Parts: sequence; structure tokens; C-alpha cells
Amino acid sequence: MRRTVVGKRRGVTDGIRVVVVGAGFSGLAAALALTRAGAEVRVLEARDRVGGRVLTRWLPDGTQLDLGAQWIGPTQDRMYALVAEHGLVTFASAALGAPTLLWAGQRRAGPPAQAGRVLGLLDEYAARLDPDAPWQAPEAAQWDRTILGGWLRATAGDGDTADYLGRLLAGGLLATGADEVSLLQLLFYLRSAGGTGPLLGMAGGAQQDRIVGGPSALAERMALALPPGTLTLATPVRSIEQTIDRVTAWTDTGRVDGDAVVVALAPALAGRIRYDPPLPALRDGLTQRMPMGSALKVHAVYPEPFWRADGLSGVSTSSAGPLTETVDNSTPTSPLGVLTGFSYSVDAAALREMSSDERRRCLLDAFACVVGPRARDPVDLVEYDWSAEEWTRGCFCGGLTPGTWGTYGPRLRASVGRVHWAGTETATRWTGYLEGAVRAGERAAAQVLSG
Ligand SMILES: Cc1cc2nc3c(=O)[nH]c(=O)nc-3n(C[C@H](O)[C@H](O)[C@H](O)COP(=O)(O)OP(=O)(O)OC[C@H]3O[C@@H](n4cnc5c(N)ncnc54)[C@H](O)[C@@H]3O)c2cc1C
Repeated sequence: MRRTVVGKRRGVTDGIRVVVVGAGFSGLAAALALTRAGAEVRVLEARDRVGGRVLTRWLPDGTQLDLGAQWIGPTQDRMYALVAEHGLVTFASAALGAPTLLWAGQRRAGPPAQAGRVLGLLDEYAARLDPDAPWQAPEAAQWDRTILGGWLRATAGDGDTADYLGRLLAGGLLATGADEVSLLQLLFYLRSAGGTGPLLGMAGGAQQDRIVGGPSALAERMALALPPGTLTLATPVRSIEQTIDRVTAWTDTGRVDGDAVVVALAPALAGRIRYDPPLPALRDGLTQRMPMGSALKVHAVYPEPFWRADGLSGVSTSSAGPLTETVDNSTPTSPLGVLTGFSYSVDAAALREMSSDERRRCLLDAFACVVGPRARDPVDLVEYDWSAEEWTRGCFCGGLTPGTWGTYGPRLRASVGRVHWAGTETATRWTGYLEGAVRAGERAAAQVLSG
């Protein structure tokens, strides 16, 4: 018997039918929580695979390359629990030796002292926010109309330090440009993860561990843990219709009815679905004000991690050039060396505009600046552009545009009738991360179950 969710007592779930849109970590976590509570769940996924913004690929020798998300770190408790629950293990990121700092093309021992002072100030501001309602802080409106790049230029003391920090914070964390994002958006991100230390760190921070088999293996195991028939791949949801007692997800091949739907997508993607009746103006407006970031993650593969013999870690940050960051992404079980580089915002856009030969030259020159000329001769160079993916359209995540938090932020998690919102962008802890995706999915499931 199908029953309505509205007015249900918590925990009384027999007969509830829930449609989950999207089988990324958020949708999978929502579906697992709902099925465990006794709900009947259908997950509709546009791609022919699960995992969304994770994609693990294997080189011919078995070396693991994570083209999307790859790291987890301390306080990401739900992710570590899922790894263990699904019989997987982690390995520590390679972090041998000191990181390299390239400052205007020259090596330098460390960033200027004022960079640390600015990070401290950001942490102090971020601590004043309630991650559940960052718009409520007394300074929120002012921080929301403050462009991060301008604030950095006014605060850092010199332009080079401001530019460097802009690349590290707006780029490395939000995958955008410092002049494209508000101070409040960055502060919320910092608050949700516990500050600049946890976010920027390798060991002890968000880049500490990788999953053996990659996050794709975990997503596949989560999907296998769902009851048979729950998941349907290659089935994009085109429209969602709700009436007084039912919600219907329409696909190219038919309809799936339920008592509630969990839309487990980034708002930018959720906004591409048609809703009947149309979404309230502020919720629809939110989806128009949360663009996806713009990052390119590229892997250069070598016969060995040759830089280690030269005392180099392969881990770098740079104040200029196409790559803001590089890491040694070699795995302990393979002799191959993997250097992974990240490019953001205008740098990523410029790379996309180049011919593939030009881009290859440009990227390998940038790797050579970090570890020397041998970087120009890889056995493979693997690129994957999430901005060109129809069902993602950018990464790492979406973020609210300047001046919009106060009006649209409260709509992030507010259900619209029978339609509930998940996806890492709706998380208040580790937003933008796999951990945030899982927490958001479980929160949306709890919202459905509580009626
Ligand atoms: C290059 C890169 C590096 C990253 N690095 C890290 C990292 O190291 N650590 C970390 O924690 N996070 C990282 N992230 C972020 C992390 O991947 C995301 O936070 C997380 O995967 C988001 O999960 P989600 O379920 O919220 O959304 P998604 O993974 O985007 O899932 C949404 C799903 O919905 C599907 N979909 C879209 N539209 C429809 C539709 N209309 N109908 C049906 N299905 C639809 C999509 O195909 C997708 O499977 C990275 C991301 C990228 C791309």
C-alpha cells in the first residue's frame, strides 16, 4: 500500500516509496539510509555508471588513477566508516619531503609571513559562522558583498601574496578565481571543514588518504548493497511533477511514482530538470546562482617517481602559471611515478582553448618547473575535463555567487513539498567533498523519513 509521507511519525516507513535522482555519493548514501529504514527506493542515474564526480581508471600495469575525487582525511568520519563497512582500505598519500613553492617562477623556501597572518584571519572570521546558517552572522552581509580577490589585495600587504593566496584558496578549494567569489563563500567553506589547516593539509588534512580501488570501487559497493532492482542507470530524470499525494519523476522511457523524491545533484544540475508546478522563485533562483567551479586535473605518468631521488616531493604550489598545485600521486603498489596537476578558473579556461599539442607542451613545461626537465618526457598524460561532462558541468562543486547568500542560502536545504534536496553543495560539514555528499544524502533521507 502506498502511503503519503506528510504527517508520518519518525521511523514509520513501511510502504513509503522514494525516488532518488542521481547515484553519486549523495544519492547512494540517501538510498542506503532510506532502504535501511524500510522505504522502497528507486534510484535513477543519468550515466551508465554510479559515482558521479568520482571516476577511477587503471593504467595497463594496474596503476590506479583517480580522475575525479580521490582524497579523504581526518574528521571525514562518514567516509572512513563507509570504506570500512564496504570492505575497503585506504593508503596514505605520498608526501615525501618538503613541498615546493614556486614564486613568480623561482623556488622559494616558504610563503611570506603575511600569508600565514591572512590565513589566521580567515580562520578567525570563519569560526564566527554557524555552518547551518552562515547568512545569520552579524558580518555576513558585508562579507557576502566583499569580493575575495579585493579583500586579499587589501589585507595581504602585497599583490604577489594576494595573488598566491587567491590561487590557493579560491582555486585550490573552490576551483574558481579570487575575483569571482565572495569572502563569505570562502568563509563558509572553511567553516564547514574546520579551517584552512584541515583543508590545505596533506597528512592530518583533507589530502591525507586515498582508497585502494578508488572511490569508484566504494560507490560500486554501495550500489551493490541496495536491494536488487533499486538502481536504474542511463536514465536521466527530465521532469518532476508533484500533486497533493504523489510525486512523479519522468524519464525518456516512462515515469516512476513515489511519495517523495530526493534530488541528489548539484543545484546547477537540479535546475536543468523541469518541475511541475514550477519551483518557488527563490529555490529556482538559487539554482541560477550556484555555478559549478572550473578545474582541470591532469596526470603525467613516468617510469618511476624520479623526482624523489632528487629530494623533491612533487608537491608544489605556484604563484603563477597554468598549474596552481601539483602532487605526487604515485601509488605504493606500482613502480610508475604519477604527478598530478590542478589548474583553475582563467588558467583552466586558457588550457581548454589550446590545441591538444599546445596544451600538452604547456602542462609538461609546468611540471618541469616543479621537478626538472625529465618531466617533459612522460609515458602518458591523462586529462579529463569535468566541465565538458553533461551530467556534471564543472567541479569541484557549485558555490553561491557574491551577494546572494542572504536571499538564496536559506533555500539550499528547504524541501519544496515532496521534493527534497541532497548533493554535497547542501552539506554543512565538509561541503564540496565526498564527506559532505554522504552527510547531505543521509540528512535528506532523514528529512523524508520525518515527514
Ligand atoms: C576533479 C575532482 C577532484 C575532486 N577531489 C576531491 C577529493 O579529493 N576529495 C573529496 O572529498 N572530494 C573531491 N571532489 C568533490 C567530490 O567529487 C564531490 O563533492 C562529490 O563527488 C559530489 O557528490 P554528489 O553525490 O553530491 O554529486 P555527484 O557526484 O555530481 O552526483 C550526482 C549524480 O547525478 C547524476 N545526474 C545528473 N543529472 C541527472 C539527472 N537529470 N537525472 C539523473 N541523474 C542525474 C550524475 O550523473 C551523478 O552521478 C572532487 C571532484 C572533482 C571533479
